[in-house]
Amino acid sequence: MRSEAYAHLSNCNLCPRLCSVNRFERRGHCLIGADVVVNTIAPHFGEEPCLQGHDGSGSVFSGCNLRCVFCQNHDIAHQSNGMHLQPEKLAEWYLNLQETGHVHNINLVTPEHIVPQVVLSILHAKTLGLTLPIVYNTSSFDSLASIELLDGLVDIYLPDFKVWDAATSKRLLKADNYAEVAKESIKAMYKQFGDLCFTADGLAKKGVLLRHLVMPGLEEESKQIMQCLAGDVSTDLYVHVMEQYHPRAYVGNQRRGPLGWSNSEPKVQEQLRYDDINRAVGLDEVHSVTQAAREAGLWRFVEAAEHGGHNV
Ligand code: SF4
Repeated sequence: MRSEAYAHLSNCNLCPRLCSVNRFERRGHCLIGADVVVNTIAPHFGEEPCLQGHDGSGSVFSGCNLRCVFCQNHDIAHQSNGMHLQPEKLAEWYLNLQETGHVHNINLVTPEHIVPQVVLSILHAKTLGLTLPIVYNTSSFDSLASIELLDGLVDIYLPDFKVWDAATSKRLLKADNYAEVAKESIKAMYKQFGDLCFTADGLAKKGVLLRHLVMPGLEEESKQIMQCLAGDVSTDLYVHVMEQYHPRAYVGNQRRGPLGWSNSEPKVQEQLRYDDINRAVGLDEVHSVTQAAREAGLWRFVEAAEHGGHNV
């Protein structure tokens, strides 16, 4: 597995960007070479109750292979700055999170572009005594080769299914063919582990937890996603319909530069970028997506803890 992981880095086509670069010498679309570049490693309390528990989820943020214009973690996800770590060093950080942070799991956030390094780090961490479940927290822009490499090494798949239409993914995620890729990735994840199961005290133990962030004005795409999940994956899938969208990153920024000239004066561009998603999502939109999910046959939904913590 070690040599297979390194082979992917030498000619990287590991995600659907298909850059074909040697990451020991050059960077591809994800801007990350052979080392993992970590922005943040810390207990995190913004996850589902079954992941964050009382003591938090041990999150590792290290860039992303998508470029969502509305990225909710823009300040850390779109950066290529941070600590350069080799897999063995990353493994030691997992142990720190386990032994000092007392977190409930190791949560690898959008690691689609660092799967070989993640594989090596998990193998090493297990030899050092890591016993926590590993969460693969992905935007689902994965290759099937990646999911195969992760088989038997991760415990919980946490895929996000973002948008449905090809034109929307191109415009808002800067990715072609996102929905088709996401659908096949999620099917492969579900085939490995199936439904999410829990420990006796309600923490996630193994399986798939699917996230979908409802976006303003994209209700119909959300409904298509729910139908796809119920029809092509399983009606027993554990689903989190998320309502916390807020305009971030490039959404609502002023367009740059003048539009042209009028009466010898520059015409000022007043339009805001991505104005159609420059608002919070309405509760009516969220309810109608949840209703469509139920009508499609889905029935296992994440309920937020009333006190913002862990439901035992
Ligand atoms: S992981 Fe990075 S280098 Fe490899 S194909 Fe994807 S974007 Fe390109």
